[in-house]
Amino acid sequence: MVGLLCLPAHAESRDISRDTLPANDGWASAGEGTTGGSAADAAHVYTVTDRAGLVRALDGGSATPKIIRIAGTVDANTDDDGDHLDCADYATDGYGLKKYLAAYDPRTWGAAKPSGPQEEARQASAKKQAERVELLVGSNTTIVGLGDKAVLKGGSLQVRNAANVIIRNLDLRDAYDCFPVWQPNTGGLGDWKTAYDTIWLTGSTHVWVDHVTLSDKGHPDAAEPTYFARNYLRHDGLLDITNGSDLVTVSWSRFADHDKAMLIGNSDTATGDRGKLRVTLHHNQFESVVQRVPRVRFGQVHLYNNRYVVPGDDYRYSLGVSTESAIYAENNAFHTPGHIEAADLVKSWNGSALHQTGTLFNGYPVDLLAIHNAYNSGSERDLTADVGWTPTLHTKIDSAEAADRAVARGAGAGRIP
Ligand code: CA
Repeated sequence: MVGLLCLPAHAESRDISRDTLPANDGWASAGEGTTGGSAADAAHVYTVTDRAGLVRALDGGSATPKIIRIAGTVDANTDDDGDHLDCADYATDGYGLKKYLAAYDPRTWGAAKPSGPQEEARQASAKKQAERVELLVGSNTTIVGLGDKAVLKGGSLQVRNAANVIIRNLDLRDAYDCFPVWQPNTGGLGDWKTAYDTIWLTGSTHVWVDHVTLSDKGHPDAAEPTYFARNYLRHDGLLDITNGSDLVTVSWSRFADHDKAMLIGNSDTATGDRGKLRVTLHHNQFESVVQRVPRVRFGQVHLYNNRYVVPGDDYRYSLGVSTESAIYAENNAFHTPGHIEAADLVKSWNGSALHQTGTLFNGYPVDLLAIHNAYNSGSERDLTADVGWTPTLHTKIDSAEAADRAVARGAGAGRIP
């Protein structure tokens, strides 16, 4: 019978778990390159379907070569029996949002840092959530989604002081903080500070993030209430790279529906980051992201062939040029609603240079540098085009038009060709 000879309509997708970063594919290909857990022996290849399995496989961030394949949806906010935990389950020591708001209302509490029983209870509650959602990724590890529907929900993948890590083909969503802290002195008006980046690289080198989708899906911050006249934010970065991290490639990924997408370098005074924070970002889609796409301090960042779809509401900027940053931007395409202008795309704080060529703005070529210098606000100074380096580690650089189409089709989880 002919039917017996037919292949299934949807052939099994290729096994990507032992893939390594191709040669010359961005900063993570420098030196010995990035191989993740590709050398894992059979005993260290795991397929996990829940948080408990994921935690066992991660092994406390051990450096043993390992491959972790995520099947289906893993919810980080679960107990050891796999039962979902919501914010009320973590609340302890009498913490209550109403009580917290009453205790630290600036009209009565003033501008001092919150302290006392409610803040202590918040910290104790936050610690209980952190123990569930912070997932430490060690050296020589590959984490991949199986098939095209693998999801990690509510987790914060933290690569701390590790080397040689690959994260691919995974939909990471809603790293939701149940217990934001009020910081009265942030930004003049005070602000809510949240704890979890969806992926956080700190002190880590040789990391390849590819074909992931990062978003707040399920809990948009815009739908959160306003307390003390500030949005009660629940999410921190989607992918923050800090504390001397270096040699990172982020490719073919999708960043969506979020406020602060990507911080590369978290402090002007972190001078230990000088010469590090070298990151390549290519063929990524940044869609409905308010700011930090990325915001860079110190690092040499090669930003090419990315697609930006800028939101209409509450948009702040895309490229953040901060202290000693050296962004080399080539052939990126921006799409914006009518009231967002090319001058809005770049913002600088203490930055001095930005290289950009081949930028498309709503289909037309623009020079972001010239526009920035012509229209920058009083607090910003002119930027020069000399960032002091020229990228050499990269694969083919497409025209912005070609990349725009390819990224719209191919970026994100479930789309590895
Ligand atoms: Ca962060």
